[in-house]
Amino acid sequence: MGNSRTDPSGGDDADVQILTTRKRRIPVHSRVLAAASPVLESMLDRPQKRGGEGRVIPILGVPHDAVCAFVRLLYSARSCVTPAVEGEEAPEVGEHGVHLLVLSHVYQVGWLKRACERALASRLTTEGVVDVLVLARRCDAPWLHLRCLRLIARDYAAVESTEAWRFLQDNDPWLELDILQSLQDAHLRQKRRRRKREEEKVYTELSEAMECLQHICAEGCTEVGPSGRGPPPRDPTHCPNPATCRGLQQLIHHLAACDRKKKPPQQQQQHGCPRCKRLWQLLRLHSAICVHPDPCKVPLCSQFKQKMEQTKRKEEEEKDEKWKLLVKKVASARVMSHLAKRKRQEGIQNQEAWLKQKLID
Ligand SMILES: [Zn+2]
Ligand SMILES: [Zn+2]
Ligand SMILES: [Zn+2]
Repeated sequence: MGNSRTDPSGGDDADVQILTTRKRRIPVHSRVLAAASPVLESMLDRPQKRGGEGRVIPILGVPHDAVCAFVRLLYSARSCVTPAVEGEEAPEVGEHGVHLLVLSHVYQVGWLKRACERALASRLTTEGVVDVLVLARRCDAPWLHLRCLRLIARDYAAVESTEAWRFLQDNDPWLELDILQSLQDAHLRQKRRRRKREEEKVYTELSEAMECLQHICAEGCTEVGPSGRGPPPRDPTHCPNPATCRGLQQLIHHLAACDRKKKPPQQQQQHGCPRCKRLWQLLRLHSAICVHPDPCKVPLCSQFKQKMEQTKRKEEEEKDEKWKLLVKKVASARVMSHLAKRKRQEGIQNQEAWLKQKLID
């Protein structure tokens, strides 16, 4: 006690003593503690014992130096509005990160807890990550927990061979299972995100292709003229997407020259040319989303639209057929049940008549 490192309050007019390990004491001001932590505030609000030695708050189970650092940080926070500026780390936090995380969690000092999480996350190693992860779980620090899981996922082989992981396997297999489950969940989430990104990319490419297709057919591009009109304008300045346009124009040229046509019709179907098929699909997709009133400049658009209309009608007719069949079946089932009821009724009446006759006889 006495020097500035163990006595952050300076000692004068301190009204509370913090008791740490080996009965060491740190004099502090109750107003500073109460302002910094709601937990300490409620502890200080409790009535004092009469004839006691003044207010004493025990903070045990943590090294004395770490408690000193904690108190010093609470005092330093008093002078600023936002005590822990992002990216700026107090030396105490770097030195006593683990213990300060526990203290800031127990005494609910939010800004210090976040600073400790950041400090610990920036020092994570494969050797120590399991211990920090366990600490993050105990101190309800999800951000730090996630950082630990990421490191384990990234470097699982190295983490698996550490002493800490083996200790975990031997002493807390449920936690090990939980971590592995979290890793798998994270992996699946990542996979799902990647798939979604890939899908979005495909949709964007298709939508660009649709735009280019319309532009080529309506205005013409560098190599293909507008449909039904003269040569290509060869002016790429108005092109919505030169790379996509180039690919599409190559497909269009290919369709005209493809030797698929030279094969007999049966083989044409069997060995469908993938490039022709691709253009075919793009034309079909265009007609499915085309809102252009007829005649649309894109080839086959109105034909595809007609075909779609026909299939829709056919489907509706099929649905109608199914409905009619259902109605017919329900109606005939009703007739059958009526008949059965009548027969039963007749049977009972016959039996009654027979019994009456017997009684008369
Ligand atoms: Zn173009
Ligand atoms: Zn082809
Ligand atoms: Zn169209």
